[in-house]
Order: sequence, then structure tokens, then C-alpha cells
Amino acid sequence: MTMVETPERRQLRELTRAFVTREVLPHLDDWERAGEVPRSLHATAAKVGLLGVSFGESVGGSGGDLLDSIIVTEEIIRSGGSSGLVAALFTHGIALPHIVASGNDDLIDRYVRPTLAGTMIGALAVTEPDGGSDVAGIRTRARRDGDHYVVNGSKTYITSGIRADFVTTAVSTGNGLSLLVIDKGTPGFTVGRRLEKLGWHCSDTAELSFVDVRVPVANRVGEEHTGFLAIMQHFAAERLSLATQAYATAQRCVDLATRWCRDRSTFGRPLASRQLVRHRLAEMHTRAEAARAYVHEVATRVAAGEPVVTEVAMAKNVAVAACAEVVDAALQLHGGFGYLRDAEVERHYRDARILGIGGGTTEIMNEIIAKGMGL
Ligand SMILES: Cc1cc2nc3c(=O)[nH]c(=O)nc-3n(C[C@H](O)[C@H](O)[C@H](O)COP(=O)(O)OP(=O)(O)OC[C@H]3O[C@@H](n4cnc5c(N)ncnc54)[C@H](O)[C@@H]3O)c2cc1C
Repeated sequence: MTMVETPERRQLRELTRAFVTREVLPHLDDWERAGEVPRSLHATAAKVGLLGVSFGESVGGSGGDLLDSIIVTEEIIRSGGSSGLVAALFTHGIALPHIVASGNDDLIDRYVRPTLAGTMIGALAVTEPDGGSDVAGIRTRARRDGDHYVVNGSKTYITSGIRADFVTTAVSTGNGLSLLVIDKGTPGFTVGRRLEKLGWHCSDTAELSFVDVRVPVANRVGEEHTGFLAIMQHFAAERLSLATQAYATAQRCVDLATRWCRDRSTFGRPLASRQLVRHRLAEMHTRAEAARAYVHEVATRVAAGEPVVTEVAMAKNVAVAACAEVVDAALQLHGGFGYLRDAEVERHYRDARILGIGGGTTEIMNEIIAKGMGL
């Protein structure tokens, strides 16, 4: 048992595992083909208390902290779900925290509570066609006009953008960035085509366009020009979620490969009886466990309020690298079957590739780490 495990978190694992077994596994292949998860899944996840994990009860959540949401993510993937499912079902994990932190009761009532109740879907739009890494260089503009902002620009690669009822949108307000909550259906706001991807097939991804979209000033999150800081502050949770998805995917692939190597015989003996294969599995297990231990340690420090920006970046890169190596090895151990759509490991192989791109790329994490080293 690690420091992170508590009797309550063991219950949370069991709850998550039961939810995945009952509500996800029978349908996941269909959702992968459909390109999205159904809205009803949000309501079901809310009913069992999973959607609101790490959000306070005062805003409609079910309590707990970052470590609890890490447990949920870990268990979803280890019990046969996927990082794509986590991205689709828990997009509110990146769309809502800025609104909650602003303490704006009106926005909390209109967006946070219904989303945590599973009746609304939110998205976060930062990335633009001209670039995602350079957040300060955002070009979508919001010009003040009385009680409204007039927004012009476009966003791309937005998770849950097809289904979202509202989008927490980063805009330039002249002397800095601000966050505006923009409702679907606002004149001038159009959702483009569903973007087709290598992996994360059950998670819809969209391009968004804003042409003279009038957004009430009441929909601004926090003070004007505080958007950049807000985005940076909440990156820690997003990056640790992606790091968790990475090591949990690695762990799941170790489980799948171990089972496969026990069952599969070549040249008259199970694969797992060969030292080369056993050592490969041992190395994969070690990589995944070491990544998990480090991510848990950094997450514990974040949950305690420590400013560990560099460590968060290192945790993401450590977990993503472990995942890439383990997923590739797990597919190889499956032989030809590993390359087929019927093999779960094939989905993880495709899904894993985004983890070193989303939420800040591996290279941008290295920039943060280098700065932390004083370079
Ligand atoms: C499936 C998916 C879901 C996503 N979901 C969301 C979402 O919900 N909301 C959202 O806002 N965004 C989302 N994104 C966007 C994602 O965050 C960006 O793709 C990512 O931040 C990288 O930005 P970019 O694609 O513009 O690459 P660029 O910034 O153009 O970078 C291109 C390459 O150059 C490298 N690079 C850039 N700058 C430097 C530098 N200074 N030094 C060295 N190398 C550098 C990068 O690491 C990368 O390898 C999603 C993307 C995908 C694919």
C-alpha cells in the first residue's frame, strides 16, 4: 500500500471498477466507432458520485482532492477503460477549475453544478490553428462593447468540442489573456467538423470558430487579463492527469501482456517460461511502477499546495516515456494479434501517442524543467 492509498480510496477504486465493468466495457467499442461517448454516461457517472470527485460539495461536487481524481483515472484505465474515455468523460476537469477558483456564484450555478450533475458538457479552448505551445501568443480577440465582449478568432483540437454546451475560452483582451465562458448556440459561434485522429476515438475533438460573437461580460471568469495565470495554475492538475493516464495505460498493458505470455505457447512452451520474455515483462512492470510512484509523490505535493511546477513537468515526461516504451513492448509481445483492432493493446498503443502532446508537449515540459534548473 502506498502513502496515497487509504480505506476511502480503496472504496473509490471499487466504485470506479464497478462503474467501468457495468457501464463502460459493454459499450466502449461502439463509442470508439461512434467517435464519442453518450451524454447519458455523464449522468450515470454523476449519479454514482464519480463525476464530481475532487470538486467541493459547495459547488455540486462529491469532495476529495487531486489524489482522489488520480485514483479514479488510474482505476478506469486499469479495469479496461482507456485514456480516451477519461478525456471525454472528464473534460470538465479542465473546463471547470478556473470557474470554481473565481468564486463567481452565478457562473458556478449556471455551469459548474449542471456539469457535475451530468446534465451539461463543458470544454476548454486554448489551442489555436497558429499554435498551442505558445499560450501567451493567443490571437482570438475579445473587444469590449458595453456589457459584452465581441469575440473573433478560432480554436482547434478541442476535446469534447462537438458535444460541449459551453466552452471556457482563452481570449486576448488587449493587455493580456482573459477566460470567457461561451455558450453553444451563441450567434457567430460555430463548431466545425469532427476531427479524425490516430487514437482517442471515443473522445470527440473539434475546431471552433468565432465571428463577432457577443459574450456577456458576466461570463468572464475572474478579472480581466488574469487568464494566462489562471491557465498556468490549472495546468498542474491537467498534466498530472495525463501523467496518470500514461502510467495507468502502461500498467494495463503490463497486465495484458503478462496474461498473453502465460497463455501463448511457441515452440512447445508458454512465452512466459522464457527468461528473455520474463525479464522484458519485469522491466515493463518496473518502468510503470516507478512512474506511478513518482507521479503520486508529485501529486501529493501539489495537493498539499507546494509550488512544484518543475516536478509536475518531470512527472509528465517520466510517465509518458514509460508509457511509450511499455505500450510498444506489450504490442510486440502480442505478435500479429497485437496489431489487430480486436486486441485491447492496439487501442492503448494508438491512444498513448497523444499523452506527450496534450497539456503541453514533452519539449515544452523540458523547457520548464530547464528553467527550473536555472538554465
Ligand atoms: C486529441 C487532442 C486533444 C486536445 N485537446 C485540447 C483541448 O481540449 N483544449 C486545448 O486547448 N487544446 C487541446 N489540444 C491541443 C494540444 O494541447 C496542443 O496540440 C499542444 O499544446 C501542442 O500545440 P500545437 O499542436 O499547436 O503544436 P506547436 O506548438 O505548433 O508545436 C509543434 C512542435 O514543436 C515543438 N515546440 C514548440 N515550441 C518549442 C520550443 N520553444 N522549443 C522546442 N520545441 C518546441 C512542440 O513540442 C511540438 O513538437 C488537444 C490536442 C489533441 C491532438
